[in-house]
Amino acid sequence: TTAATVQTALEAISRSNAHLNLFASHIAQNNIEAHSNTPCDGPLKGWPVAIKANIATSEQPTSCASRALQDYVSPYQSTAVEALARAGAVVVGKTNMDEFGMGSTNEYSIYGAARNPREPNTNSTNKQQYRHSPGGSSGGSAAAVAAGMCRVALGSDTGGSIRVPAAWCGVVGFKPSYGCISRHGLVAYASSLDAIGVLARTVDDVRTAFQAMSVPDSRDMTCMSERLRTRINVLSRSRKWINYISKDSSTHALPLTGIRVGIPHEFWVEELSQAALDSWRSGADKLAMLGCEIVPVSLPHIPDSLPAYYTLAFAESSSNLARFDGIRYGTRSSERPSTEKANASLKYANTRSEGLGKEVQRRILLGTYVMTASASEQYHVLSQKIRRIVQQEFNAVFALPNALLPHSTESIILTNRPSGVDALLFPTTTDTAPLLGSADLNPVSSYVSDIMTVPANLAGIPAISVPVGADGAGMPLGLQLVTQYGDDSLLLRIASHLQ
Ligand code: GLN
Repeated sequence: TTAATVQTALEAISRSNAHLNLFASHIAQNNIEAHSNTPCDGPLKGWPVAIKANIATSEQPTSCASRALQDYVSPYQSTAVEALARAGAVVVGKTNMDEFGMGSTNEYSIYGAARNPREPNTNSTNKQQYRHSPGGSSGGSAAAVAAGMCRVALGSDTGGSIRVPAAWCGVVGFKPSYGCISRHGLVAYASSLDAIGVLARTVDDVRTAFQAMSVPDSRDMTCMSERLRTRINVLSRSRKWINYISKDSSTHALPLTGIRVGIPHEFWVEELSQAALDSWRSGADKLAMLGCEIVPVSLPHIPDSLPAYYTLAFAESSSNLARFDGIRYGTRSSERPSTEKANASLKYANTRSEGLGKEVQRRILLGTYVMTASASEQYHVLSQKIRRIVQQEFNAVFALPNALLPHSTESIILTNRPSGVDALLFPTTTDTAPLLGSADLNPVSSYVSDIMTVPANLAGIPAISVPVGADGAGMPLGLQLVTQYGDDSLLLRIASHLQ
């Protein structure tokens, strides 16, 4: 299949968006010229791109799929979108998502559920019902790529929201190291975990878009500085055991010779389906055939990641979402304003009750609770400690030192092969896409589906999901690769061979 152009993308949108429900808004077909006015020859020239509805664009609403921001149009463009536009990309639309990024199935949305364009192979006559979830929260972005409605899509990933939908829709989804891409203009869910990332059909397209956006930005104080980027480069390039000249035909080395990939056994969880196990095995075999050395590793505190993640994410979201009070942004309760103080707080309450969905309200309440004086020691502080332990365990398995640790560049001689691995490989999800409607039955069981993806966010390390394998009905699965903090280039290189 050839890559989507703006024309073919808009045709696909007008053909299929009515039943797939992937776009909250999009540009008109007769108006392409007005949107591709940049006379530039950038690396993304003419690429149709779709942007998740929680990333600010100056032209279409940045609604976060919430009533609270339904018609809100940002006065500025996010740094990431600005970079794509400068490289020649054309924003075709804003995609459906779980409200404020909270969910794993793209069902918590004012637009209604987004639908997975992938269908099980059956001989039944009830074809084309699109009954499966595309995954979430970046479901619209992943499904839009799969349906040819864009060439590249931006998503956000706080605990798996790019990788889960990528796996379930059969596309590539990349969450870069924390701080690679500026968060300026991304509506915050949990600021210490949030990352903007890329979805596309191929790793090469992901890389091209990522490189255009991975630059320092003074408007986001957590965005990596030029100095840190240089330090990371020097550090990772000093690994003599990795052959960086991959097109070296004089040696008969395989493309990934010298790279050691770990299989962490803590991800071998009870919930893993047979199809996911098969995909894991075939991915490991493929990497071995390409020259990788495959070794078992252990990260003992991985099982504690999930409760720690939800505690921290809820706590941060309760603080971040306090700004949606009806005064500064978006919609306000239509009840008449009162000058009395007592009624002013009622005004906030009404605005939030009307503007925010059930799942968002549940998380704000739980997050507020875990931050209270009586509970914070037991929940919030404990979760911070678990997070630190998980980070340390990742640092212990990787051969490359973490560039954020003091003196790691200077004190370690990287000439000989140290112990430790260069990457880890494990499934993105425990199974293929669920049917729509299953998340609502039990919110906790839908939280469990993030067990494979949240550790990378806790550690701030890069992670990518690549389509590998399928279940008996042909529904796709993804395998995840992760590397040390800042080692995004090696991650993309291994991923491009795994695909
Ligand atoms: N499903 C997870 C959550 O609901 C992750 C969401 C995300 O990465 N934005 O928090």
